[in-house]
Amino acid sequence: METKKKDIRALTKDQLRNFFVEQGDKAFRGNQVYEWLWQKSAHSFDAMTNVSKETRQMLEDHFVINHIRVDQMQRSSDGTIKNAVRLHDGLVVESVLIPTETRTTACVSSQVGCSLDCRFCATARMKRMRNLNADEIYDQVVAIDNESRLYHDRPLSNIVFMGMGEPLMNYNNVLKAIEMITSPEGLGMSPKRITVSTSGVPKMIKKMADEEVKFGLAVSLHSAIDEVRTSIMPFNANFPLKDLREALEYWYSKTKNRITYEYVVWKGINDTQEAVDALVKFCKFAPSKVNLIEYNPIDDGEFQQASDAAVSMYQNTLERNGITVTVRRSRGKDIDAACGQLANKQ
Ligand code: SAH
Repeated sequence: METKKKDIRALTKDQLRNFFVEQGDKAFRGNQVYEWLWQKSAHSFDAMTNVSKETRQMLEDHFVINHIRVDQMQRSSDGTIKNAVRLHDGLVVESVLIPTETRTTACVSSQVGCSLDCRFCATARMKRMRNLNADEIYDQVVAIDNESRLYHDRPLSNIVFMGMGEPLMNYNNVLKAIEMITSPEGLGMSPKRITVSTSGVPKMIKKMADEEVKFGLAVSLHSAIDEVRTSIMPFNANFPLKDLREALEYWYSKTKNRITYEYVVWKGINDTQEAVDALVKFCKFAPSKVNLIEYNPIDDGEFQQASDAAVSMYQNTLERNGITVTVRRSRGKDIDAACGQLANKQ
């Protein structure tokens, strides 16, 4: 029976160096191969041209490189690109390139599907199939960086973990991917250009704070009233706002990094003065800013974008209270690439 070959990128650099020593080779060969795997993003052992043919064959006998494959690329009229990314086991996730005047942002997935049950999100309708490995997250970033250079003549500048899945429910792999994205042995990007977005898992927010991570944190809040939040994001029953608030205060005390709240205003759900007042109060617990995002319809109209007047009421009230607020227009809607629309639909 053939034994299953191991994913070579599951090994740390030290483990790879040790592997070469065990094979009677020099440890530095591990460094060379590591560089091919991460910095040069090699898809095959054959690409490793400064490694002998025998060594390449030996690696082939022991390991696989589970590189992602961009199966389909769709381009929106506004320059947004959506990739359907096939994983080694045939499952598919999506990632998005969002260009603006000044930056190119990659929006990457952290899980296949999602285990949370936000009622307004298309990804929630796929069940969670599995977590992505660190290399599968890393590969999505590399693919978008290449597309950014090719179609927009500039490298990728920012990364947001706002694709499919809940990053804090795949904590270890997300952190390992970020480590490689920021390492000079990987892409060497600044952690300040990375934002992890979460529905709000208090325990994991505290863990990140303890590790004094350097990237940004965004929280998909949508309501600062427990009853309302639970009705649209049912898991809020297990992670109530009081726990979230406490975790966010802790995050700020440790990282001194202000928090971004993502917030959609929906007709008949949170378009009231009472809802705005609750948000203002919540924003005062820890330094923060609010991104009001446009709702991207995913179904027959159970959820509807609130009126411009309601959005202005939010904007004015927040500003009056000294809270920074931005109103974000959707990108890539015509190819189902906007927030909450990722559901492997082609
Ligand atoms: N699970 C993480 C990462 C996903 S980010 C999180 O919840 O933060 C995706 C963002 O899009 C979240 O802020 C989510 O609340 C928002 N979103 C989901 N469905 C949406 C929709 N239909 N229209 C606009 N935003 C949506």
